[in-house]
Amino acid sequence: MEKAVVSVVRFRAPYEMALKEALDLCDGLKGFRESDQILIKPNLVGWDFELPVPPFGLVVTSAVVYALVKILAEGGYNKIKIGEAPLMIPRTMGRHMFKILGYEKLQKKYGVELVDFNEDRFEPVDVGGFKLAVAKKALEADKIINLPVLKTHNQTKVSLGFKNLKGCLDRKSKMFCHGKTEADLAQTFPRVADKLPLALTIIDGVFVLERGPSYTGKAYRKDLLIASKDPYACDAVGAEIMGYHVKDVPHLKFYADLHGRSYDLADIEVLGEDVEKHRQFVAYDFEWTPENTGPEGFKKRGITGLAIRKYDNTLCTGCSVSFTPMIILLMSAFTGEPFPGVEVLSGKIQTASPGFEKTVLFGKCACQANKGNPNIKKAIEVKGCPPKLDDFIKALRDEDIECKMEEYVKYRHYLYDRYKGKEGFDFGLYQEQDV
Ligand code: SF4
Repeated sequence: MEKAVVSVVRFRAPYEMALKEALDLCDGLKGFRESDQILIKPNLVGWDFELPVPPFGLVVTSAVVYALVKILAEGGYNKIKIGEAPLMIPRTMGRHMFKILGYEKLQKKYGVELVDFNEDRFEPVDVGGFKLAVAKKALEADKIINLPVLKTHNQTKVSLGFKNLKGCLDRKSKMFCHGKTEADLAQTFPRVADKLPLALTIIDGVFVLERGPSYTGKAYRKDLLIASKDPYACDAVGAEIMGYHVKDVPHLKFYADLHGRSYDLADIEVLGEDVEKHRQFVAYDFEWTPENTGPEGFKKRGITGLAIRKYDNTLCTGCSVSFTPMIILLMSAFTGEPFPGVEVLSGKIQTASPGFEKTVLFGKCACQANKGNPNIKKAIEVKGCPPKLDDFIKALRDEDIECKMEEYVKYRHYLYDRYKGKEGFDFGLYQEQDV
């Protein structure tokens, strides 16, 4: 069997030359016709329009998107769309994100159509015994170019091409992927790739994100572009560069098993940069206490009387986004005295333990999973789907636990400010480019 080819190239100016090299090495545009409707699917996840967002490793760099559109347009491929279904908290934000990231110029200069899938139609697609609702524009395309970011993910370990395609699903189907068992996640979303006209994957490795997938992770400059026509091989190489082997990443292993693919990197032909040279482990997860009472950092701060159970794979993105803020808010409520015996539960399968005075049920699912649980003395229900931070603060205030929103705001500024003026962390990479 012929080996899948993956190119690994250094990202450098002029960016379109670097990307062109990556595409040439893997023959990335082979089979593309000028008449093709091409859909670029960048990883745009979501944004926050109230507090500062460090974009590094969070979303695809506009520099790479611009370079790709330029290469396509100059190659005579002019039917280009860029599509994504970002988070809907509180409502879809695609248009705002396209604007913030400077995509409107691509619309004006190259006639690129910008599509927020959430505003368009989704079609039910059988992905192997069950149906997921997939963006109609993605199904209709002749060729999809998948454009993920080189980042880790606190649930799936790595978030690369397969994970990025979850952004072609509607909200309900995304939630469905976070099923009622830990294993569901790895066995649902990778199936989407098989149903799409996926022609090329390009991993934007300008930055790599540790403890992703959100802005709470830490980005490092990596300066790599990884490309392949083979989605599995591309993710396998991307994972390897972050220090993860296919067999240790449940969704990649699942896909490999489903398709009889080898786990061995030696079965992939890597052209360009040496993977070994760039392999560097980046952690995907926060360390938790062995007793499952909260992040390790809580111990150092002397926080006691509080047990935040670690999130699991049943927690979908909506709740995940609020999970770290919830932790920061609880930290802000620490007065030096022990908390009054509080357990915090989230997701679809965590159930209350005996011996706690108060049980915080974070999100609709945790409320449902613990209805009538005899271990609960006093339930503090934060019912939203996903729960709102303001509701969380209010519910705890009613119990005399005073979370301070200003501490969370301070934390968000810290996350953003730590990149300011730091060499290589150029905010201009995420803005309109010269074309
Ligand atoms: S409450 Fe949270 S975990 Fe449950 S469906 Fe809503 S967002 Fe997902």
